[in-house]
Amino acid sequence: MCSMPNESTILHADLDSFFASVEQRDDPRLQGKPVIVGGSVVLAASYEAKAFGVRSAMGGGEARRLCPRAIVVPPRFEAYTEASRAVFDVFHDTTPLVEGISIDEAFLDVGGLRRVSGPPEVIAERLRAAVKERVRLPITVGVARTKYLAKVASRQGKPDGLLVVPPTPEGERAFLHPLPVEAIWGVGPVTSAKLHGRGFHTVGEVALLRPDALVALLGKWAGHHIHDLTNLRDPRRVVGKRRGSIGSQSAFRWSRRSWDDVDRTAVAIVDRVTRRMRGADRVGRTVVLRLRFDDFTRATRSHTLAEATAHTATILATARALLAEARPLLERDGLTCLGLSVANLDDGRAVQLALPFGRGSSGALDQALDDVRERFGSKAIGRAVMLGRRDHAAMPMLPD
Ligand SMILES: [Mg+2]
Repeated sequence: MCSMPNESTILHADLDSFFASVEQRDDPRLQGKPVIVGGSVVLAASYEAKAFGVRSAMGGGEARRLCPRAIVVPPRFEAYTEASRAVFDVFHDTTPLVEGISIDEAFLDVGGLRRVSGPPEVIAERLRAAVKERVRLPITVGVARTKYLAKVASRQGKPDGLLVVPPTPEGERAFLHPLPVEAIWGVGPVTSAKLHGRGFHTVGEVALLRPDALVALLGKWAGHHIHDLTNLRDPRRVVGKRRGSIGSQSAFRWSRRSWDDVDRTAVAIVDRVTRRMRGADRVGRTVVLRLRFDDFTRATRSHTLAEATAHTATILATARALLAEARPLLERDGLTCLGLSVANLDDGRAVQLALPFGRGSSGALDQALDDVRERFGSKAIGRAVMLGRRDHAAMPMLPD
């Protein structure tokens, strides 16, 4: 048996009733109401509808019988895709090791970030706050030493919660073993009926079975798999995948925004994006600006540079040019979201070697800022334009 870390460093982050939450976010009339997304089949149900027994994948007729007051809305997959991208941007802002599982959930490994970002539970709470602030969606995070326990923890912590499984065998058993057998990963209706038929109702009861007894009951693969999981063995690591673009965005409240607000937000986003690019040793050529308005219209502007870069001032100048181009759109009310990403990514180290010169003086400034933030936290330094904000008031002045 491999040794286990004495810290819970795996996060499972899962948006709550994802499609239904996006609908409630985008239409104030749906907030606090039972909402069903779908038609003939329920694709998602808000927690208000779930309280009546409505579940995903249920037939629409049955759902309406259970909850006649439910408001049924058709799905808007484009909005969900965009929200998903925004949430994954927050994940990638949190740690380089992100393994997406579906459109609305991922595993994150935050081991090794303690010195930079704090203990895992603090990182998890900050992630939840960032998703709430930047994407305005509720998300639940489970924190544990293994993927399986983190996944179970996020399910137990729903909705809008944080649940940390203590990183000891005793703590893990106390959390997992009282749960019903349905909490075992891979146990569907057929397997759970078999287990109930033999009188096993909790995970702890199944954990006491010998492997050969489980294999006789459930087959070789499932038997061993379930024996391992119920006995806290899950050696699988979080496998990060490289992305084709790196981006970030900020959601706005419904109120009117001044041009300065928009610019300040763009500066903060560019700062996040380029810092993450440099942290991942990546450079990119195409800067993409995304705007969303409260009538659900969207606009995209992009520009491709001659050379790939992760240089903050270059990306910011490009972003400002794109913003200026979109200014007629921005002058009207109702900007709800500003996003920026850099695509056409390359490996930064390879590019640096290929260039005849090293980092320029402004590249050196970026590096110096990254170093200070790594040592003292990301709030330690802001660029000059951020000084107007109260939470940055104590920051030293730096060239923009
Ligand atoms: Mg979910």
